[in-house]
Amino acid sequence: MGQPVAGNPSQFMMERAFAAAGLDWRYLTLEVPPEDLPAAVAGMKAMGFHGGNFTIPHKVAVIPLLARLTEAAELMGAVNCVFAEEGGFVGENTDGKGFVSALKEVMQPEGKKVVLLGAGGAARAIAVELGLNKVASIDVVNRDAGRGRDLANLLSQRVGIESKWIPWNAAHELPEDADLVINGTSIGLNDGSAMVPVDVDTFRESMLVADVIFNPPQTAFLGAAQEAGCQTIDGLGMLVNQGAIGFKIWTGIEPDQAVMREALEEYLGI
Ligand code: NDP
Repeated sequence: MGQPVAGNPSQFMMERAFAAAGLDWRYLTLEVPPEDLPAAVAGMKAMGFHGGNFTIPHKVAVIPLLARLTEAAELMGAVNCVFAEEGGFVGENTDGKGFVSALKEVMQPEGKKVVLLGAGGAARAIAVELGLNKVASIDVVNRDAGRGRDLANLLSQRVGIESKWIPWNAAHELPEDADLVINGTSIGLNDGSAMVPVDVDTFRESMLVADVIFNPPQTAFLGAAQEAGCQTIDGLGMLVNQGAIGFKIWTGIEPDQAVMREALEEYLGI
C-alpha cells in the first residue's frame, strides 16, 4: 500500500516468485490515501492477508495500527513490511536487512568502517541494520543537520556503535581507512548522469562501494568507484533481497532470487 504506487515493481516481482515456487498466491498493489489507512489495514486483517508492504506515505503512520514492532522497526521508527500473527500484524523493516544480505554476498559487516551518504528513510534503515550487525563505526554525511545528527545519535546512543554526523557542504573526502561507502541519498534516481558530491580522487581500491538507487542500477557514483578500481553493489540487489526476506516471512519458503531479479529487470526495462 502506498500513494502513489503506479510504476512500483513489487507486484510483478513477487507474483513471478510465487509462480516459480508453485504457490497460488497474490500480491496486490493498492493505492491507499492516508485518511483510509486504518480502514485498509482493518480490511487486510478481515480478509485474512498473510502480510504486506507499506511505502510512502504510510511507513510511519501504519505503526499505531499494528500489534507490535520488531527491534529493527522500532529503532528505525518506520515499517515497510508486516506479517500476521495471532492478535494482529507485526511491523518489520526489511530495507536495511535487504541491504545487509546483499552486502554479505561480498563482505562481512562486523568491524567495518562505514561512510554513509544521506540520512533519510533508506539510509536510516541501512545504518540501524549495519549497527545491529556490529560494524565498527558509521560516519553519517548529510546536508540537513537535524536528520544527520538524529541518525548519528540514534546509532551511538541506542544501537551502541561509534557514529558522528558530518555536514555535507562540498565534495566529501572519503577517509583512507573506510571499508564500505554507501550512497543512501536519492541522487541518481532516474538520472544515470547525476553524481553524488564526493571527491572521486579519494576512492581507494580497498573500498566496497554501494548504491541504493536501483533505476538505473548503473549510477554515475558506481561508475566513478569502478574507475578507481573499487568493487561495487547496485541497488537492485537490495531491492531483490528485501523482497526475498518478505517472501520468506510470509510463506516460510526461500524464493528464487534469480527469478526475482530477472522480473525486476524486465519490468524496469533494463
Ligand atoms: P528520503 O527522502 O527519506 O531521503 C533522501 C535523502 O537524500 C536525504 O538524506 C537527503 O538529504 C538526501 N538528498 C537528496 N538530494 C540530495 C542532494 N542533492 N544532495 C545531498 N543530499 C541529498 O528518501 P528515501 O531514503 O526513502 O529514499 C532514498 C533513495 O533510496 C530513493 O531513491 C529510493 O528509490 C531508494 N531506495 C532504494 C531501495 C532499494 O531497495 N534499493 C529501498 C528504499 C529506497 P537531506 O536530509 O539533506 O535533505
